[in-house]
Amino acid sequence: MLDKARRFRTEDLSPVDELERLLERCRASDLNAYITLNGDEALDAAEQALQRLDEGDDDPLVGLAIAVKDNICTKGLRTTCASRMLADYVPPYDAHVIRLLRRKNAVIIGKTNMDEFAMGSTTVTSAFGPARNPWDPMRTPGGSSGGSAAAVAAGLCDAALGSDTGGSIRQPASFCGITGLKPTYGSVSRYGLVAFASSLDQIGPMARSARDVAVLFDAIRGHDPRDSTSAEAGCPPIPLEGMDLRGITIGVCRSFFSEGLDRDVERSVRHGLAVFEDLGAKVVDMDLPHLRYSVAAYYLIAPAEASSNLARYDGVRYGLRLCDERDLMEMYLATRSAGFGDEVKRRIMLGTYALSAGYYEAYYHKASQVRTLIAKDLREAFSRCDLLAGPTVPVTAFGLGEMVDDPLSLYLLDIYTIPANLAGIPALSMPCGFDGRGLPIGLQLMAPGHREDVLLGAAMTFQDHTRYHEVRP
Ligand code: GLN
Repeated sequence: MLDKARRFRTEDLSPVDELERLLERCRASDLNAYITLNGDEALDAAEQALQRLDEGDDDPLVGLAIAVKDNICTKGLRTTCASRMLADYVPPYDAHVIRLLRRKNAVIIGKTNMDEFAMGSTTVTSAFGPARNPWDPMRTPGGSSGGSAAAVAAGLCDAALGSDTGGSIRQPASFCGITGLKPTYGSVSRYGLVAFASSLDQIGPMARSARDVAVLFDAIRGHDPRDSTSAEAGCPPIPLEGMDLRGITIGVCRSFFSEGLDRDVERSVRHGLAVFEDLGAKVVDMDLPHLRYSVAAYYLIAPAEASSNLARYDGVRYGLRLCDERDLMEMYLATRSAGFGDEVKRRIMLGTYALSAGYYEAYYHKASQVRTLIAKDLREAFSRCDLLAGPTVPVTAFGLGEMVDDPLSLYLLDIYTIPANLAGIPALSMPCGFDGRGLPIGLQLMAPGHREDVLLGAAMTFQDHTRYHEVRP
């Protein structure tokens, strides 16, 4: 991505020609990475970018094509959340992150495929059909930001935005061999992000390298008064060069290498840790006793918040309405039955149950207490180390049809990604090798809140030495 930014300035490369070439590739692609391509408006934006370049604008994002997950509102451009419920929804406003990107003259190339309402890990629950993994089109790109990950990996955009509630940026980044960052909760505005679980959702950048991710993160972060959970203070300046890793301590939680971890994944992640050691970092073992309850806590908290957030899709205020029914209740019932897919319904039922009188204390309240303990474990760990490292996902990309009927097994695969969401800390996934089939494997780094500078600096140094991120499907 940064290489292209340079060529826009030093060679005869024009953002208009580049966009046309990319759009052509997107139309010819059968990965189903995009739900909607942004044709004419994107070309206008590219023309404008060309003008800015001529005027000497030195912002690296000018003219670059950014793909946007389809749960981030784009004014005048359909935003579906991959749901029948919002299949024709055209937002009258831009999300805060989109406004920031447009101001920098980045080009929004299109809206990417995802699991319906960001609930899932496969992109298979999309009402627009599954996206496919560029490394093997018969496999899932992961999810829920699977379209964004596939688009980056297949070169159908320069970088992308995703959203991460329990791993939806990092898990598809891992499956598609790219770099993805879930920022600190509150560091990127959620204004204009369609809510799934508001206390966990964060928008974040996905790109080939940590450097590209850093540039995009720097562009979208910052305080926004329209998001009441937006943080006033952010992280220190983001480095654009790798950092010296001597003197850095990297903690490894023993339970990261527990049962159920694929052997190739374990081998590659251990090799990644050895690279960090070679670069001067100290790797130490840690115990984080409450992390094993992350999945259980998350699958109560996230559905509880989702059941409340999704109550607005009632056929009256937003989206789909089936109206030839006799009374209001029937209209609600018909609209929600037809508008939502199975996974979304499952979450609404789980969440409504967990919040109902008589069960609230036993489930939602208990899960919130566990969440506090997990955050405390992580805080204590960071008093002894600068970063935590481990696998992003216990497995590599699996077949498109696999696990569709086994939601529980799918939920369990989120074991490594969920803790960062529950604690609100930043976490990143980057490629660290390949399995026996040649499928990419991701290594996850976590840092204390607002320390994306350390997270990205360490990732850049790792990538400068390993170059796994440069291998293409
Ligand atoms: N796989 C998780 C879920 O299904 C994460 C989703 C997300 O981060 N949006 O809820």
